[in-house]
Amino acid sequence: MNDPKQIKASILEREKRYIGLTENISRELIIVLAQTTPKIVGGIFKKSSGKGGQFHKHDVEIICSICNKHSTIEKATIAEVQLCIQNERDQTPDMCTECSIKIQKEYETRMKLKEQQWEKEQPKREQEHLLHIEKRTDDFIKIYLNPKMSWNKGTKQYHRLQELYRSSVSTKQEQITEYIKNMEYNDFLNTPYWIAIAMQVKYKAGFACSLCNSLTGLATHHKTYDRHGKELSYWKEDLICLCNVCHKKFHNK
Ligand SMILES: [Zn+2]
Ligand SMILES: [Zn+2]
Ligand SMILES: [Zn+2]
Repeated sequence: MNDPKQIKASILEREKRYIGLTENISRELIIVLAQTTPKIVGGIFKKSSGKGGQFHKHDVEIICSICNKHSTIEKATIAEVQLCIQNERDQTPDMCTECSIKIQKEYETRMKLKEQQWEKEQPKREQEHLLHIEKRTDDFIKIYLNPKMSWNKGTKQYHRLQELYRSSVSTKQEQITEYIKNMEYNDFLNTPYWIAIAMQVKYKAGFACSLCNSLTGLATHHKTYDRHGKELSYWKEDLICLCNVCHKKFHNK
């Protein structure tokens, strides 16, 4: 059927048969007409005479690609015909009603099984998520709350803080806070956690005492210990950069 002359003759033959005589048109012919006639709707759906006449509907014959049965879309609407053309472009196979119901049912069964499987695995996923959080919490404590650990010399201040923030995501914040509260304070002062945060406070203060602007003997001071262990979240509020003279005033009260 590759000879163009033959195809044209066959179209004309079918056009006579379907459009002219039986008002029944095959999907194949609709596709050919859509390719040759720019206005497919006007070409197939001739308006009935008279003002505001209705579009003349056709029965569209399709062959089921699953069971090879011939079937018809009776009095097809414009939308249904356009769907036929769309299906051809998408290479969606034609299906009779029975086959399409069957396939829909098979699809629903598959989806249901998938859903059941997903639900069955839900506890396992939750367990894995919990283990993941526990591991990240342990790692955070082992690395950043370990006074024996220290930052690599080359790591910039900005990157140290970024690393702390990144590593604290998906951890048990309460467990970390408790761990810090239970630490020897001197050990705490030597943790990479405190060293990076304390440096950040000084850095933001421009390496000057926030009370007297002195540039020497700077320390990072806790204005309150209410949120001790949560310095990473509250350093802007709770910590201040002071020189040793001003710092003494606070601790001698
Ligand atoms: Zn079928
Ligand atoms: Zn202090
Ligand atoms: Zn000062």
